[in-house]
This record gives sequence, structure tokens and C-alpha cells, in this order.
Amino acid sequence: MNYVSTRDKSVKVSAATAIARGISVEGGLFVPDTFPKFNEKDFENLSKLDYKARAKFVLKHFLNDFTEQEVDYCVEGAYTGSFDNEQPAPIALLGKNANILELWHGPTCAFKDLALQLLPYLLTTSAKKVAGGKKIVILVATSGDTGKAALEGFKDVEDTEILVFYPSEGVSPMQKLQMSSQKGDNVHVCAIVGNFDDAQTGVKKIFTNNEVKEKLAKNNMQFSSANSINWGRLAPQIVYYVSAYCDMLARGEELKDGFNIVVPTGNFGNILAAYYAKKMGVPVNKLICASNANNVLTDFIKTGVYNRNRDFYTTISPSMDILISSNLERMLFELYDNDDKAVAALQDSLSQNGEFKVTDEVKSALSELFWGGCCDDKATVDTIEKYFKEYAYLADTHTAVALNVYEQYVKETGDDRATVIASTASPYKFAKSVLSAVTDEKSDSEFGEVKLLCEVTNTEIPEPIAALENATARFTDICEKENMLEAVYNSLNIK
Ligand SMILES: *Cc1c(COP(=O)(O)O)cnc(C)c1O
Repeated sequence: MNYVSTRDKSVKVSAATAIARGISVEGGLFVPDTFPKFNEKDFENLSKLDYKARAKFVLKHFLNDFTEQEVDYCVEGAYTGSFDNEQPAPIALLGKNANILELWHGPTCAFKDLALQLLPYLLTTSAKKVAGGKKIVILVATSGDTGKAALEGFKDVEDTEILVFYPSEGVSPMQKLQMSSQKGDNVHVCAIVGNFDDAQTGVKKIFTNNEVKEKLAKNNMQFSSANSINWGRLAPQIVYYVSAYCDMLARGEELKDGFNIVVPTGNFGNILAAYYAKKMGVPVNKLICASNANNVLTDFIKTGVYNRNRDFYTTISPSMDILISSNLERMLFELYDNDDKAVAALQDSLSQNGEFKVTDEVKSALSELFWGGCCDDKATVDTIEKYFKEYAYLADTHTAVALNVYEQYVKETGDDRATVIASTASPYKFAKSVLSAVTDEKSDSEFGEVKLLCEVTNTEIPEPIAALENATARFTDICEKENMLEAVYNSLNIK
């Protein structure tokens, strides 16, 4: 297996190079040129193993130039002692069919931890192989959860520096505090005036700027990315969908007709990992893409037209407030049968005109695989209330969007087969909104809300959130989006 760029298939590299670079020189994303295929026997064997063993099995197939010992070292390092549960991705079964795949038991209480606890190991192992001793500089644009998860993953990791940009008004107070109070000698955090797409566009520009690259090289440094444009983010996410299937098998589920997966979606990374799991043999029926009021993907799946020229909404599920879903590019590469020129043309149209349209053939392939739905903030809050009343289950705002869209799907199609619903964050990360769904009681402080939520719902405050109560902000810089490069140079002490 090698990795090729979605915009130029003649760019062909190993896993270590794909991970160390993060993005291809011409702006395309790295994807495997072949995928492993697992059979029933494989899944049966895996269902008897724990999460780490499943992760090793899956990842070995993707890390073509890693030794078996290196893969084992990375997986053990990532998933030992960092999750509050021996199983990093446990399932809570609600009713007969709804398998809530809880992906928020890691150090930052969001699903990004599953990948970002592993990525530093993958990246430093890759850099040793292919980056010739250069220091790796991680640039991150975040809508809230990636930033903190990346900071936690990379803090004090040797030969790395990490710099995170977040939209100043586009993250929750808890997310802001999580990032601004980050410890570590190699970490830098900067708020920008703008939204997530501005941050992401800014980071992409810096990444692909040759002058900047040369300057870093002179200082013995090289950029890489911890955003889900990096293949090292996606591969670990495939694991938990394989693992969820194995858990259902281990429980004795038949799943003859397969099962559905619902994913609350922003940048399209998480749902893409679910698609790859399907491609590799996990019997997934429909991939259900759930959006908030920023429903560009819902429209795309229904019409085949992707159009980002629309109002941007700041919602109570901020990690999904995105109008440019960068990982859709990898899906287009699949849908267009690895036609790099077609993908490059679509991406070109997106950056020139803010939109693109797929062919009729691709549109029908898309709606064969995916079902798209969305809901607004009011429906999100109502859904949290409903699941708490009916099942005593407390969902966060993102998971609630998925639950709401799941119900829309069942209502419209009558398809009530077993379903995995990705639960992407702890409700305590979004305490204010979640609290308003379950009680009229109010508090005027962030931690008052956390404590009240705990009292009212009789659920546990995750330890990393409790620990923030006495944290102080260390990073308070705000910069204009035009000045991001300057912020990078300052953080790295480069003139
Ligand atoms: C990042 C994030 C999402 C969106 O995931 P994508 O992979 O970007 O689609 C959803 N929910 C939460 C809580 C997140 O942090």
C-alpha cells in the first residue's frame, strides 16, 4: 500500500511520509491507493480481543513502512492509562437498536482524543524515518475540540512544537478555558478574529507557502498537521467503527442485514472513517450524516450541489459550525473512482466560486451510501430533554443532533435496523446548553452550571473538566486573520 494525493496521483509516498507531511505539496490530501479487506473470520477473531489489539490489527495494514514493534509501541502508548475507561470506546445501548458509541472518555472529553492520543506517536515515529531529524511544527485550526485534544497529545513531546488557532467567539467557554490554560513547554495558543473556516483557510495557506517552508527548513523545522487532513488522524478513527461492530458481535447480535451509522458531522473526518470501515468489510448499511443549522452537507447529499455561499450560523454544537468540510475531498476521490483530475477541478471550483456540482452518476452513488439530515438548536435541546426523560441518558449537543437526525431517518424510511450513533463529546463540555434542556434552574458561572448539571442529572463530572475549575488562562493573545503567519514566526522565535 502507498499513499497518493487526491489531486495528483503521481505523488506517491509511504505512510510515514504522508503522516509527516500532513498534506500534499499541491494541496491534495493523502489517501491509501488500496484498502485492506477483512472477512467474517477476522471480525470473529477481533471480537474476542480488547481495543488495543483491535487497533494494532487494523493499523498494521495502513502503516506500511512501520515495523510491527513500532505499531505496538504507538498503540500501547496512546491507549494505556489515558482514558477513564479500560475501553476507550464503550457502547451504551438505548432501547433495542440505538448503540451510542461513546467516544469521549479521553483526556479532553471529545472524540478527537481517540486519534490525537495516537497521532504524536505516529508522527514522531514517522519523522525519525523520513524528516531527517527536523523538528516537527504542528499547526492546528480548531472549532474547539481538536485544539485541546492536539495540545494534550503533543504537550512536551520531544522535537515537536504545536501552535493552535481558534475562532475567538466560535468556541464554548469551557473549550476556551481548556485551551488557554494548556500546560507544556512546546505549546502555543492564539485566538483569531474570524470563524473556523477563516482559521482553517489561514492554516492551509501557511502550510502550502513555499517561502515559509524554506524559512522553516533553514531553522531545521518542518510543518505537519494535526487536523483531520492528516491521514494519521483518520486511520485511528476507522478502528472504533471496527471495534463497535466487534462489540456488537461479542454481544451476540446477528446483524445479518448490517447496521447503520449516524455521525454528527463537521469536517467530514469522522463519517469518512465510518465509510472506510464499510469499504473494509464492516457490514454498514447507511451512513447517516447529521448536521446542525450549517447544513451544507445535508443539501449536498440531497442535491449533488455543494455550495458554501450561505449564512454561517454560530450554534450550540460549535464543533460542527463548518461550511467547508475538508475531508469531503477524500470522499469525492472515492466517488470519482480515484480520478485525481476530476477532484482537482471540483476543489478548484470550490475555492474560486464557493461551490461545485457532481455528475448525476456520482450523485446517485452518494445517495446510495449516505443519508443526510439536519436540525436547529431548538430541536437539539428538545432531543437532549427527550433522551434524558426516556432513557435517563444525557447527550451532549453534538450527539443530540445525531439522535435527532437518526429519528428523522427512521421516520422517513421505516428502517429500524441496529444503529451505531457516534457520541462525540461529554455533555459537561457544553454544560449551559445541556442544563437548559433538563431543568429551569440556572447558574451564572461556568462551573456553577457544571455542578448543577451533576446534581440535577445524577451523572458524573469527568475528571479533566473538574480539574479546570482552578485553572488560570495562560494564553490570551487575539490576532487578526491576516497576521497568523506572524504569530507562527513569533511562537517559533523565527525572524
Ligand atoms: C470535531 C467534532 C465533530 C465533527 O467531526 P468531523 O470529523 O469534523 O466531522 C462533531 N462533534 C464533536 C464534539 C467534535 O469535536
